Amino acid sequence: MPVIALTPSWNAEAQRVSVPYTYVAAVVRAGGAPFVIPPSENDSAVCAALDRADGLILTGGDDVDPSVYGEEKLTCCGETTPVRDRLEQTLIRHALKRGIPVLGICRGIQILNAALGGTLYQDIAEQFGTQLKHPRSDIPIGDAHTVRIEKGSLLYSIFNAEECPVNSRHHQGLKSIAPGMRISAWAPDGLPEAIEAEDGRPVLGVQWHPEGLIERLPLQLCLFRWIVQEAQK
Ligand code: MN
Repeated sequence: MPVIALTPSWNAEAQRVSVPYTYVAAVVRAGGAPFVIPPSENDSAVCAALDRADGLILTGGDDVDPSVYGEEKLTCCGETTPVRDRLEQTLIRHALKRGIPVLGICRGIQILNAALGGTLYQDIAEQFGTQLKHPRSDIPIGDAHTVRIEKGSLLYSIFNAEECPVNSRHHQGLKSIAPGMRISAWAPDGLPEAIEAEDGRPVLGVQWHPEGLIERLPLQLCLFRWIVQEAQK
């Protein structure tokens, strides 16, 4: 059974890691065995843990600290967790080096893009200017907007659909796309909602939360099936 590493959120005050159980359930349902890699001061320990995994899922959470993409933190930026930023940067680097498949979800697509050299809007409403409300935590598993999936993309081959409804629980978004990555889904307002590796490597990020939609929209399980399948190669 392929083993899938999950990244946790980090509560510095409580010195505690945690992962929403929906990610665990989604991986198990897709046929994978999940485990969590906590942050550590020792990068070698982090990499050694990832070496035991066949796939990596970067889960949702706090904002990415703008220092990751070389910007000053503005007041519109939310709470950041540099310890987690560092954990995930290390994991992303190591996964790419080892050819371990990566799926980034919400914060996960953002840290993936930033770690690979892209930038983020610290706050969509403030910096992007859109009529569409992307932070819809009031309807965490409801349809917030649709996404248009780029034909011919990896994401298109996974969904086999040009459009699908998604939830939306993010106030940050992708600004410039990292070198080597391309946009594979768009929100109706033109904000990138998914990116993937240009060279066909199994590296994919989505801005929505598929793990929360599976009960209502079983199609979303296909993202977890995809990484489990890639992890078996
Ligand atoms: Mn959105």
